[in-house]
Amino acid sequence: MVWRIGNGASIRIKENKWLLDQCYRTVISPLPNIPPDAKVSSLINSTSCAWKFDVIHQNFLLHEAKIILSIPLSFRLPSDCLIWSKTPSGLFIAQSAYKLLACDASTNNTSSSNPNPQKSFWRGLWMLWIPSKMRHFVWRACNEAMSTMVNLFRCHIANTDRCMVCNAQPEDFLHAVWGCEALENVWSQLSWARSSVVIPPGDFSNLFAHFLQVADALAKKAKEGEDFKVWSEDISRDIAPLVASDVP
Ligand SMILES: [Zn+2]
Repeated sequence: MVWRIGNGASIRIKENKWLLDQCYRTVISPLPNIPPDAKVSSLINSTSCAWKFDVIHQNFLLHEAKIILSIPLSFRLPSDCLIWSKTPSGLFIAQSAYKLLACDASTNNTSSSNPNPQKSFWRGLWMLWIPSKMRHFVWRACNEAMSTMVNLFRCHIANTDRCMVCNAQPEDFLHAVWGCEALENVWSQLSWARSSVVIPPGDFSNLFAHFLQVADALAKKAKEGEDFKVWSEDISRDIAPLVASDVP
């Protein structure tokens, strides 16, 4: 179930599920300037029946601001209501529940192929043999939904977007875990990773998609998927400290 926004008076910004995103519904932006019990109505201009564009852009992470601003508002500003998110009408029908179960079963089927690269990417992530907490961490990283200097600067929490380690470049997530010169000693111990990347990635999702392709190639070579399991366990071990320090 997810909230359908009317006037926003019944929906807590930080707690309730109200974002129209397939992967997650709750807000993950840090929002230090918004009280814990603030309602979505505080983000809506009740006179013009429109989102408060500046407030949203100043407080939310970029990808989340886009998601919020894409939510349509009614000029009548009716009461908020809970809806079933798997049908266009918002009404629960048994057929949609069967489709949901079938979709989950398909996602868990490792032998199925998918011509959609974007869908393959997310499926590859959800199939990794890592704890769900790590999947969520990687998903946030791929969406730049992390407390990097670039995001902190955007939200007016920091007064610069520069990396505080090298002070040479803006610190997005790719820079924080891959591009910063201070990481050379770390990555030099994982030579397979650096040597496999020929074209510099544009962002972290590019980098991770590349690693998934490497994993896929390993899985095809391996008998009974043992190499893939080992690779996943290696990745799990390598990013565990990052997860422990960033995910509450
Ligand atoms: Zn740096």
